Amino acid sequence: MLAVAAFAGLANPGPARAASPAERTRTVEYFPGPGAEPRQVTVPVAAPAAGSAARGPLAPAGTGPQVRPLQHTGPVSGRLDLVVTGDGYTADEQDEFAADAEEKLDAVFGVEPYRSYRGLFNIWLVNAVSRVSGVSGDPTADDVKDTALGSSFFCDGLERLLCVDTDAVTRYAALAPDADIVFVVAHSAKYGGAGYSATDLPPAAPFHGVATMSSGNERSYLIGAHELGHSIGGLADEYQYPGYGAYPYAEEPAAANLTLHRDPDRAKWHRWAGVQDPTGSVVGTYEGGGYYETGIHRPTGTSLMRSLESTEFNVVGREAMIDGFYADADALTSSVPTGRPVRANRPITVRLAPLTGLADLRLTWYVDGRRIPWAAGARSVTPHALGVRGHDHRVTATVTDRTTALRDPAARDRAANSLTWAVR
Ligand SMILES: [Zn+2]
Repeated sequence: MLAVAAFAGLANPGPARAASPAERTRTVEYFPGPGAEPRQVTVPVAAPAAGSAARGPLAPAGTGPQVRPLQHTGPVSGRLDLVVTGDGYTADEQDEFAADAEEKLDAVFGVEPYRSYRGLFNIWLVNAVSRVSGVSGDPTADDVKDTALGSSFFCDGLERLLCVDTDAVTRYAALAPDADIVFVVAHSAKYGGAGYSATDLPPAAPFHGVATMSSGNERSYLIGAHELGHSIGGLADEYQYPGYGAYPYAEEPAAANLTLHRDPDRAKWHRWAGVQDPTGSVVGTYEGGGYYETGIHRPTGTSLMRSLESTEFNVVGREAMIDGFYADADALTSSVPTGRPVRANRPITVRLAPLTGLADLRLTWYVDGRRIPWAAGARSVTPHALGVRGHDHRVTATVTDRTTALRDPAARDRAANSLTWAVR
């Protein structure tokens, strides 16, 4: 989208409408530069650029399917579905989009805990074909281009703020079988991006968040990695603004990574207190966070949620992310439906998500709630082999994740998943 107010003074305001006094606004997260602390800014909600309101997704002529799975690890009901779409790529540049998208994704999924838990994601590439190559605001503010998703640097006058027409993004994302999170990769070598949380998206948007990032800048993937911290982990920003002063609320914040308590043993992350953290500091309580300078504490000196100078989540952030993965995805799936009885002599086959690194999945089988030790880890069993005789028995497969990255017992419980079949 174009920020109308910011462009009003320019000779060529581009495809924009006049700002009304009752202009709605939305808050987006802005990244002033590689390695800089992000900040929240309020921008006007502009109408879709002229022509784009009536413009549906444009089919790419002769370039193959408009949606393709880059990674398909399981059913959409049991996976986090990440949709990546490009802007400022013409029909002839869709291969370039795919290559750019894969490069961004590999960078994001190089960061823990995305790296270990990549197997809980399906990733869909959606081709959005633009009439011209490149996006608005590159190289200069007055450079306006008519692209499929209306991406624009200089959003609200801020050069690095890369806004997008969220209505158009919603239409394109709907082409994928499911969309929990959307990345927009804008065809540009310039540094920039933005983060939109669910509360700032169109009401019809079914996904948790949208992150925009430029294709050609090698640090822009950190924008995506940070934004997923909000949308998947429910993490708060750990940065603060000079002059913002004391945290004004008496209640403990909901996010896992902020606390009112100064004593680390009273912080919600007390189980991690004193641990040497991947971000380089020892987990404790560090004053400042959630935009305020005092009266509020974060777990580590820095982290990916504080500054993009850090390329790691702290252990508190990692735990919240893994908890968030399991809120939307299951490590255990089966093509044998649980809704109807199975025969005692037919195999029940299950699949475990292909997790690595930090993850430590254990599969256990039960008959009528009684554990069958010898069957641990078996991907395919028959009820008969498990000892089921006669009618009215139940077979259960349970997967748990014994990762050391989860210390909260409630989060460990949420990471477990079971499937139960009645045997006829
Ligand atoms: Zn943020």
